Amino acid sequence: MNNEFAQRRHLIGAGLENREIDAMLVTSPASVRYLTGFNGSNGAVLALPGEAIFFTDPRYAIQSRREVSCRTQVCKDPILPTVAGILAARRIRRLGFEPAHLSYAGFDVLRANMPVNASLEPVSGWLEAHRMLKSESEIELIRRSVATNSKAFEWAAGRVRPGMCERDLAAEIDHRMRRLGAEKPSFETIVAAGERSALPHAHPTSAVLKSRQLVLIDMGAFQDGYASDMTRMLFLGEPGAPVKRLYRAVLEAQLAAIDAVRPGVTTTHVDRQARNVLKAYKLERAFVHSTGHGLGLEIHELPRIGMKDKTPLAAGMAITIEPGVYLDGVGGIRIEDTVVVTPSGCEVLTPTSKELRVL
Ligand code: ZN
Ligand code: ZN
Repeated sequence: MNNEFAQRRHLIGAGLENREIDAMLVTSPASVRYLTGFNGSNGAVLALPGEAIFFTDPRYAIQSRREVSCRTQVCKDPILPTVAGILAARRIRRLGFEPAHLSYAGFDVLRANMPVNASLEPVSGWLEAHRMLKSESEIELIRRSVATNSKAFEWAAGRVRPGMCERDLAAEIDHRMRRLGAEKPSFETIVAAGERSALPHAHPTSAVLKSRQLVLIDMGAFQDGYASDMTRMLFLGEPGAPVKRLYRAVLEAQLAAIDAVRPGVTTTHVDRQARNVLKAYKLERAFVHSTGHGLGLEIHELPRIGMKDKTPLAAGMAITIEPGVYLDGVGGIRIEDTVVVTPSGCEVLTPTSKELRVL
């Protein structure tokens, strides 16, 4: 893995000239981890041609010695003035920075400490574009995260009883995930029962699971830094025809979108396949979000699988496919898998059955 981090740093260093910058300051925690393996809360990477310097503070001196293979500077004072000092010493004129991951205050500190003739150049999405294409070892980590997540789901689904509240079920899921090897959930676990399942991002509450109700569970793990993401539906009791029809519509939409995933196809095309199926069921207006998203070191990464995004898919991308329908006063249904684009199509990593689970 150390080799892989060095390779990534090398690629960024080698790409500076094309971007017309002399150095790139990486401050997004996920991208810092991508370049170094560092898994702490305070770190930055300065990528220079042929060299990279990692910065952190004394709390992480021991940890970074173990995790980071490039030159490391442990700063007793705030990191950014130290970075600016190095820029001056090396006569760096144009410094690239990540505008979405540098605060206004941080920007001011850099500007105040950099040489007067030096400039700060916003560079958006560069690291993210690299991170979009996963290496084999990254896909292996995602596969393991998916496996842990699915095992935790099976365990929790087997313990669902009417009378349990959403929050208790979410807590059981999170606990089991950790017991199975996850560091933490990759986002706040969603358990939404009955009408509340129509809220796509519901926070679990003390609402009680009742019989003849839909229960939406959206859950993911972070394991060895990599995210998984899955949504499954439970039904307590025997579902009626309207629920079965809704479920069939979403499942057909999800399968149609997965079927379209292959290299060269645009993300908007994949999104449209799901939307077309729901349109045939007259449910397209109940599908209020995009079909999916990339995932990796973060739960939401590039590419977006939505109506407006025209990124061509490529082998090595890890994405979710998660169409859903949400009807106010009735409930919502979403089915979500984690999928990897392969040279010939795609592989659905999620092993969990997609049948509506009747309990
Ligand atoms: Zn999800
Ligand atoms: Zn998702």
